[in-house]
Amino acid sequence: MELIVARHREDLVKARGEGAVALVPTMGALHEGHRSLIRLARERADHVVVSVFVNPLQFGPNEDFSRYPRTFDADLEVCRAEGVDVVFAPSAEDMYRPDRQVSVNAGHMGTVVEGASRPGHFDGVLTVVLKLFNLVRPDVAVFGQKDAQQLALIRRMVADLDLPVEIVGAPTVREPDGLALSSRNRYLSGDERTVALALSRALRAGAAESVPSAILATARSVLDAAGDRLDLDYLVLVDPATFAQARETHAGPAVLAVAARVGTTRLIDNVVLTLTPA
Ligand code: AMP
Repeated sequence: MELIVARHREDLVKARGEGAVALVPTMGALHEGHRSLIRLARERADHVVVSVFVNPLQFGPNEDFSRYPRTFDADLEVCRAEGVDVVFAPSAEDMYRPDRQVSVNAGHMGTVVEGASRPGHFDGVLTVVLKLFNLVRPDVAVFGQKDAQQLALIRRMVADLDLPVEIVGAPTVREPDGLALSSRNRYLSGDERTVALALSRALRAGAAESVPSAILATARSVLDAAGDRLDLDYLVLVDPATFAQARETHAGPAVLAVAARVGTTRLIDNVVLTLTPA
């Protein structure tokens, strides 16, 4: 099957075949993490649509929208190799009319942790994801656990707004040395990459502990040991469904999440733990 590149809503309607459709939303610069999502999507549906759209709405004024990597030709090659049926790559002008008024509000959960560092980010994410759902009308949509709060908020949006789509979460793909794959890793110099390894190392060390205070203290000590080339934004242990901070007596699943700047690159990572009551 030939890969179809759809630029407009009308192209998508034409490309839509019979059978279940799975959507994998991305901002392009596709890597092995995205490939794993595409493979999961293929297992879940007859047709796979990958969207490639660098969403201006989810970038703050001082963030990296203009320098975000754009590698569309290479992305098409990845999609072809993975047997994707349709790549949906709209322009920003087509997605956002100049007179638009209505958008999605991510609620309180959109203002904590990552949302506290990036005001408005999750409103922008949920708005574009809802639009993509309406344009593509998938039965299933696949998102990475790498962006744990995004995944949790999308699940909330689907529940709160009764959206007829099944959300599938995919595990984080890492380099052999632990670094979580990210389109932004290409900004890192060799030295910065070495510093960045402290994120996944800290999460692993924290995950070996069993109570919240020890989990956080152990992870924190690994981050501190990386020195001042690692500029920590947050290290938190939260409930995966609400992103509220886990109490010392927390039992059940919890997400240990970290964000830090290395040079000019902001990186995030997380692991899911299961805490057992003392
Ligand atoms: P992005 O293109 O960075 O917006 O990411 C598109 C999708 O790929 C999101 O659902 C991400 O959570 C997911 N993703 C990004 N990095 C990884 C990774 N290392 N492993 C698994 N999924 C990922």
